[in-house]
Amino acid sequence: SAIAKDATILVAGARGMVGSALVRRLQAGGYSRVLAPVRAELDLMDTAAVHAYLAQHRPDYVFIAAAKVGGIQANNTYRGEFLFNNLSIQNNLIHGAHLAGVQRLMFLGSSCIYPKLAPQPLKEEYLLSGALEPTNEPYAIAKIAGIKLCEAYNAQYGRQYISVMPTNLYGPNDNYDLANSHVLPALIRKAHESKLRGETEYVVWGTGTPMREFLYVDDLADACVHLMEQGYDGPLVNIGTGQDVTIRELAETVMQVVGFGGRIVFDSSKPDGTPRKLLDVSHLAAQGWKAHTTLREGIALAYQDFLSTLDPARR
Ligand code: GDP
Repeated sequence: SAIAKDATILVAGARGMVGSALVRRLQAGGYSRVLAPVRAELDLMDTAAVHAYLAQHRPDYVFIAAAKVGGIQANNTYRGEFLFNNLSIQNNLIHGAHLAGVQRLMFLGSSCIYPKLAPQPLKEEYLLSGALEPTNEPYAIAKIAGIKLCEAYNAQYGRQYISVMPTNLYGPNDNYDLANSHVLPALIRKAHESKLRGETEYVVWGTGTPMREFLYVDDLADACVHLMEQGYDGPLVNIGTGQDVTIRELAETVMQVVGFGGRIVFDSSKPDGTPRKLLDVSHLAAQGWKAHTTLREGIALAYQDFLSTLDPARR
């Protein structure tokens, strides 16, 4: 590997689903100096604090897994916060890293940066080739600005700041709040609660026809560390499985894993969002990486994690 085991590695957003998976993966990989400040130690919205932290610790590598994230309804409701908070967090970290002399940084984006009606599967080169999906446009605009800031700092200052675009993620430390979460944690929770209450119906938003690709977060962390270790230096790279399912198929798989035998009811008052966002993962494959957790295995792991967050009486 290109990274020394005693290199100083900062994971920004270490309490989140992605950041905590990165910390697990780095520790399992034998890295001994992983910095994982929590919000009480470092407020990523505070420019002076972020710049001072980076100047003091001078990490060799930075992973930016910090962001304000959420599902379709949260993105659509808190549009100002999704744009402003994400721009602030990433500007503070990227510019602060540059000022502190950090040469290698990885910025994590999202597959929602691609145009709503781009051909599928989504290739990295489709960025900025068309209009975005309106429900998550503020989040996508912030992430696109981050990608472009990295590219601009590479061009102007010779930095090696790379951007990776993960597909929809799930796993330990996910958000199971029904109003703000993504689809998979929401469905796990709804199926579990319907089972406990002995209900016969299970409400799924939208029409069930949109297609989504899902990656288990430990696979994502493995891919990110792999790319950093390889010294990957390309522009952006997609990280996914290369396979997708309809929301109806997803809802059925969740019911099977949870052991809930009810009927799916579609709530068409809720938005479908983008019809499909399957990533083209050929650049990632060329770098020697592919996902190994199947959707069913990952949902079973995520369900165990969800159960562990509950009070014993509610399992
Ligand atoms: P998106 O990938 O940015 O659209 O975000 P989500 O993960 O929130 O939603 C993905 C798809 O799942 C959309 O078509 C939603 O309408 C659908 N969906 C079905 N049931 C739910 C639910 O209970 N919560 C969420 N967040 N989405 C749901």
